[in-house]
Amino acid sequence: MSRLIRVGISACLLGQEVRYDGGHTRDPFLADVLGQRVTWVPVCPEVEAGLGTPREPVDLVKKGRRIRMVGLATGMDYTATVEQWTAKRLDELEQEDLDGYVLKSGSPSCGVDDVRLHHADGATTKTGRGVFAHALMRRMPSLPVEHERRLQDPAVREQFIERVHAYHQGKVPRQGR
Ligand code: SF4
Repeated sequence: MSRLIRVGISACLLGQEVRYDGGHTRDPFLADVLGQRVTWVPVCPEVEAGLGTPREPVDLVKKGRRIRMVGLATGMDYTATVEQWTAKRLDELEQEDLDGYVLKSGSPSCGVDDVRLHHADGATTKTGRGVFAHALMRRMPSLPVEHERRLQDPAVREQFIERVHAYHQGKVPRQGR
């Protein structure tokens, strides 16, 4: 792969201290190994949307047909703030010429398919998709997307790298044509 390949990533996975508690979730494979082969485009939806660090942790709550992002301590609803920022940021990311995206699992903003979700009947499942991840995958449905936990599996990792490479190749005009 070439460093010309640009891949979006949840900023905490590169060691940026942007988590709600001021920490990070640096992933050595992504930061040190794959980072030698691609150019990362780091994004932290919650910090960039203005929620600050440290900040109140949030969960996803199903209200009717909508999923809300709600503060665990205050019950404050952050959904509109994050959704409005997301719409603008995705306009910018469309210009970033991305070839893939690695998202942080379990996050109410970045999680792909395993985010804690509270239901109206009081049940909780780990089936939610983060607010930013949801909008990203709707806006760019063919972009290769994975989360860091699945990328611990060497087979998934290889597949993802191949998909990113193929996506990049598909955008590069071939010489002689
Ligand atoms: S998971 Fe997403 S929102 Fe949470 S700290 Fe990491 S980049 Fe920021």
